[in-house]
Amino acid sequence: MRYVSTRGIGGSISGAEAILRGLADDGGLYVPEKMPILPLTYFEDMKAMDYPARAAYILKLFLPEFSDLDHICKAAYERFDGHPAPLVDYGEDLPLVLELWHGPTCAFKDMALQMLPLLMNKAREIAGEEREMCILTATSGDTGKAALEGFRDRQGTRVLVFYPQDGVSEIQKLQMITQEGSNVGVCGIRGNFDDAQTGVKQVFSDENFAKKLQGGFLSSANSINLGRLLPQIVYYVSAYIDFISENPGKTLNICVPTGNFGNILAALYAKEMGLPIGRLLCASNINCVLTELITFGHYNRNVSLHTTISPSMDILVSSNWERALHLLSGGNSEYVKECMLQLASSGRYELNSDCFNAMKLHFDARYCDDDYTKSCIAQVYERTQKIIDPHTAVAVSVLLEEEGFSQKDTPYMVVSTAHPGKFPEAVLSALSIEYNGNPIEALQGYTAIPAPLLGLEEKEKRFLSSVSPDAIFDVVEQFAN
Ligand SMILES: *Cc1c(COP(=O)(O)O)cnc(C)c1O
Repeated sequence: MRYVSTRGIGGSISGAEAILRGLADDGGLYVPEKMPILPLTYFEDMKAMDYPARAAYILKLFLPEFSDLDHICKAAYERFDGHPAPLVDYGEDLPLVLELWHGPTCAFKDMALQMLPLLMNKAREIAGEEREMCILTATSGDTGKAALEGFRDRQGTRVLVFYPQDGVSEIQKLQMITQEGSNVGVCGIRGNFDDAQTGVKQVFSDENFAKKLQGGFLSSANSINLGRLLPQIVYYVSAYIDFISENPGKTLNICVPTGNFGNILAALYAKEMGLPIGRLLCASNINCVLTELITFGHYNRNVSLHTTISPSMDILVSSNWERALHLLSGGNSEYVKECMLQLASSGRYELNSDCFNAMKLHFDARYCDDDYTKSCIAQVYERTQKIIDPHTAVAVSVLLEEEGFSQKDTPYMVVSTAHPGKFPEAVLSALSIEYNGNPIEALQGYTAIPAPLLGLEEKEKRFLSSVSPDAIFDVVEQFAN
């Protein structure tokens, strides 16, 4: 298996190298040169396996030179509370729900970020890389904490996280600034997620900056990293197997609350590998750049970013869309490069008709605003006594809005991306629950709150600084050296 940049420069490299580098030198993202195909026997092979074994089965197709994937996958899901990715029937004419928040930071980012450090360690061994590694990460809220938790106290590695100071929930912020570990750093950005992401990308693509790092090298834990994408493919395959075991002969459509396009891209990859899933519905909040793209075929980031109650989706430039574009254009890296140049210079580009048609074969898209999101949380609670988080609610909401949804032959599965306890203010408001004081404690009366979200107020706040986006370079240099 070899990997190439979506923008075509630099030839092909191994999976180990791709995981270590993060972003390609030409600014592109690494993608498989040729998508591996699921063996014909995959269903029979995997049916009786537990989740870590299923993960190893899939990852071996992408990373054949990684010798101990069985151990890596087992270790990656040790800190999860029960099944890492249970497919749950909420009943009451609701979609099936794939719960991906049973990891140590209560968001779906754990699915990949508990594994990425282990993959990176192995990749370093394979590549004979002995320099210290500095992981840089821009976060819209959940990636930061999950990366910190994944990389804390790992030898030979440091991890530095940038988050938009006013763009994350209070709990998300507390989770990050109270992070323990001797090799971690957290810094607020006076700007939005796109500012943080752009700043971090600039650091990566600056060759002179790389030379300033005394004997170390930079890598990324963002979803641009191949090592983030691969573990996410697993839960789609796993969920499909669980579904078909109960519903032989049926197909499954999938609805994903989407921000940087990493999660839903993994579903597209699973489909390309031969998993017979149906439509992929991309759900957005009012930052609906992707809805416009998928509906009309143009990408336009020249709109203002709104903060919403689903902050992990407050994004205008969805990095992983570039991987989808590469795939949908038949691997046309010249075309991808041209689109990305246009996006950088004018903030927009138009899909050509081949690409548009290829996209329509897989994707639908809809969006909803905060009011609909909240009323969806209330509706689901009324029907089932279960509380869903605002991101999950965006996805459920766009489905319930669809006429005749519950009578459809092909059921939908919604990907549930966070525990509601990460967004207690929004959830309490959606449920019209009055409270004084600590919202987490108030929410505790209605749903079980996982231990990692409790007692954050009492922990030491270790990282209080914030900087303007142009100071990112200085912060990285200080931290790395
Ligand atoms: C990151 C995140 C998303 C968006 O996922 P992408 O892979 O960036 O599209 C949605 N919901 C939650 C809770 C998240 O943390």
